[in-house]
Amino acid sequence: MTNQLLINGQLIAGKGEEFDIYNPATGEVLLSIPEASLEQVDAAIDAAETAFKSWSRTTPKDRSLLLLKLADAIEENSETLSRLECDDTGKPYAGMLNDEIPAIADAFRFFAGACRCMNGSASAEYMEGHTSMIRRDPIGVIASITPWNYPLLMLAWKLGPAIAAGNTVVLKPSEITPLATLKLAEIINNIFPAGVINIIFGQGKSVGAHLTTSDKVSMVSLTGSIATGQNIAAASASNMKRLHMELGGKAPVIVFNDADFEEAIQGVRAFGFYNAGQDCTAACRIYVQKDIYDEFVSKITQAVASIKVGAPYDEDSEMGPLVSKAHFDKVSAFVERAKSQKHIRITTGGHPIPGNGYFYAPTVIADAKQNDEIVQREVFGPVISITPFEDEDEALTFANDSQYGLASSIWTQDTSRSARLAARLQYGCTWINTHMLLATEMPHGGMKMSGYGKDMSMYGLEDYTVVRHIMTKH
Ligand code: NAD
Repeated sequence: MTNQLLINGQLIAGKGEEFDIYNPATGEVLLSIPEASLEQVDAAIDAAETAFKSWSRTTPKDRSLLLLKLADAIEENSETLSRLECDDTGKPYAGMLNDEIPAIADAFRFFAGACRCMNGSASAEYMEGHTSMIRRDPIGVIASITPWNYPLLMLAWKLGPAIAAGNTVVLKPSEITPLATLKLAEIINNIFPAGVINIIFGQGKSVGAHLTTSDKVSMVSLTGSIATGQNIAAASASNMKRLHMELGGKAPVIVFNDADFEEAIQGVRAFGFYNAGQDCTAACRIYVQKDIYDEFVSKITQAVASIKVGAPYDEDSEMGPLVSKAHFDKVSAFVERAKSQKHIRITTGGHPIPGNGYFYAPTVIADAKQNDEIVQREVFGPVISITPFEDEDEALTFANDSQYGLASSIWTQDTSRSARLAARLQYGCTWINTHMLLATEMPHGGMKMSGYGKDMSMYGLEDYTVVRHIMTKH
């Protein structure tokens, strides 16, 4: 385990206040890490600003080669990185090693290729005697702020396009889960020139706020809560920073009476509880058509009760603990408030799992009403709500009645209906007869309070560039 930050090609300890990093599966302290002092944050920004002068002028091929090296190094160090990520987050080791590491390496490989084939409109004479052309240039120093639910994957989604496009970066992982990111800093330091990627550690309100309000930072990319997004957006006015925001979700899952019933049950079990439900696309807000509602509640209750909860290295563990004591308390409080409503039925779970660590039982909350807090607000835990609906119109009204707009799914065998509804759902993504699956070539990002900007895909790369018009008089 390392507590070193990466600033201008140097691995150095932070000089600020010290913070304990906890193992959420045991509640024990793993390590204490001093956060960056504000002078160190400034040094990282200055290093990125200086490195931008040369890095922004490298060829896509040269940037691509280093990103490919990074992807290879991540695979070579996959076990070490996975262990650190699991110790820090509590997630099952097998999923980290076999699902997340390949997706992380793939993100870097995708952007390594994508930056070499960026498309633009044709150069032409749109005004007589003048030739116009379009450039897509890097923006400058990017501040990247990652969350605690998928620390390395979110790092890859942010660093990949930013670096491929020719920007330089100062990245701050969540103060709760920095371990794998700090290990990766060592790996990055062996591959990239000094200052191109800087990694600092610290709290949001101190280090994060200082970083994201600097006038030398041209863009902030955040994955986190709405409140943090709003703070950053308000503070970005001073120098008109560009913003890229992924601020969570409350995904509706609409199950019609003609859906493949067993697939829908298995889908909600898998995609509602992956990563202990700490996923902004988690299948958590379930709407089921009235005539199959009772059977659905009964079958999903059995399915969810069978989820194996365990520590990261338990071989049969499907779900780990919540990430921190504070988050555990937040999730518990959501369920307690829901329980206190007379019409609500907790059909399985609804309680912490006794013992050390922040384990919470997979929970099904049936008979929830559309205006209930448990339906409207993001719990970000292993908790799903189920609400009956009458017909297509009501399902659509319920699904769109949310401040969030990140992800949604429709479960039906009727392709006309799924096409009709998908066109009217106000979500960045709609899956038909599945949920949560991602492809690096395809964009991920929200509408409404879920934020704006796309991760992954060519759209993601474009977000980290500025479009420029060059006109030459003949
Ligand atoms: P958060 O928004 O407080 O933290 C996310 C990141 O932002 C962290 O790195 C944090 O240090 C940083 N940050 C906080 N304040 C900042 C500021 N003023 N300037 C710059 N950076 C700042 O989220 P959290 O407290 O870790 O989690 C709270 C809730 O956010 C969760 O319960 C969940 O609802 C949501 N969340 C969403 C996602 C997602 O994938 N969209 C991920 C994590 C959390």
